[in-house]
Amino acid sequence: MISRVLAAASFAAAVHATHRRKGAAQEPYINHPLEVAQILAEHDAPEAAILAALLHDTVEDSSDDPEPVTLEALSARFGAEVASIVAEVSDDKSLPKEMRKALQVKMAPKKSDGAKLVKLADKISNLRAIMLAPPASWDHARKVEYVGWAGRVAAGLRGVNPALEARFDATYREAMAALAREAA
Ligand code: ZN
Repeated sequence: MISRVLAAASFAAAVHATHRRKGAAQEPYINHPLEVAQILAEHDAPEAAILAALLHDTVEDSSDDPEPVTLEALSARFGAEVASIVAEVSDDKSLPKEMRKALQVKMAPKKSDGAKLVKLADKISNLRAIMLAPPASWDHARKVEYVGWAGRVAAGLRGVNPALEARFDATYREAMAALAREAA
């Protein structure tokens, strides 16, 4: 378990070596998948979901690389279940952004349990980032819109891990309260 988790963390760190988060501090991108995996581990998620959390952006974010990460490569290295969760949580980047966001809301209830766990922990991490290290170019309205959208996606991800869902709800309330203070 530990060696597989560290192998996935190292693999993701290599893929994201030159990527940065959108916040003003421009943190290394790998901090995000590490946080998503940690949230899942703290809520007793199965190993496949934790590995998929570490790897969840490696396919989407390497598509323009000379040697993009493929689902086949993830399957060979980390197993078919992990690769299938990564596939389920990856957006189709050929679609316009607004359509991808609408599809996330619509498709959330249809995802596998493992994909629902990864997506919910991903949204928790992203809401934390909105509060603690928001993208410098985002105004108040954009943050409010994002938090509301994350809540609509999360509504379709329930029924798998009540403790994780409660953690999302608490984070959502904190984010909304922080934005209300920002507006005041
Ligand atoms: Zn993510």
